[in-house]
Amino acid sequence: MKKLYVVGNWKCNPQTLLEAKRIFGAVSKMVKERKSLETVLCPPFIFIPGLKGKKIKIGAQDCYWEGKGPFTGEISPDQLKNLGAEYVILGHSERRRWQKETDLMINMKVKAVLAAGLKAILCVEKESQLEGSLKGIGDFNNLLVAFEPVSAIGTGKPYDVNAAGKMNLTIRKKIKKDTPILYGGSVNSGNARDYIEKAGFDGFLVGGASLNPEEFVKITRILI
Ligand code: PEP
Repeated sequence: MKKLYVVGNWKCNPQTLLEAKRIFGAVSKMVKERKSLETVLCPPFIFIPGLKGKKIKIGAQDCYWEGKGPFTGEISPDQLKNLGAEYVILGHSERRRWQKETDLMINMKVKAVLAAGLKAILCVEKESQLEGSLKGIGDFNNLLVAFEPVSAIGTGKPYDVNAAGKMNLTIRKKIKKDTPILYGGSVNSGNARDYIEKAGFDGFLVGGASLNPEEFVKITRILI
């Protein structure tokens, strides 16, 4: 059975562990456990140790490419793994924009995450980013790709479903036939279904709506 994914990216939210536990707890309570559905929440690093639940997998929003040593402020793949994280979002457009991450840096991060046995959720907006970020990577097991058009991220303006479907096919040609390809960009419970049924995606990367437990869970219900 094909697995579908709903990954919540909390970004730099919320401001307290108490609130993080409230959101996580509410999602845990409502979300359904199914073999065909993987629900993942990606909180800020500092909340990861405080959030545990059987039905929800934990992801991080970034990590460093080195394993340890003099890299002030960085977090390694093994540190995340040892905290129970299973996924890492890499190459998010906000990091490309504000932290000036390049395809080369993201490529090193993808390699490090896969080598640590974590699953990498690689965000791309165009083919060149996909190629640059996957250079030299032959084993696509544990890789997910998220098509995230910048114009749709956090704007409330979801990307045209037909154009997204075309990009899905373009990405598919470059990777394995069973690598999950997610759509991300202003997904909500009202527009989500089309990206699965018309554009053929294997799930979603959800930003803003992932902080609203009811809305986030509604999106997961579309997939089961
Ligand atoms: C994201 O941050 O990856 C994202 C898709 O955000 P939003 O759902 O808010 O557009």
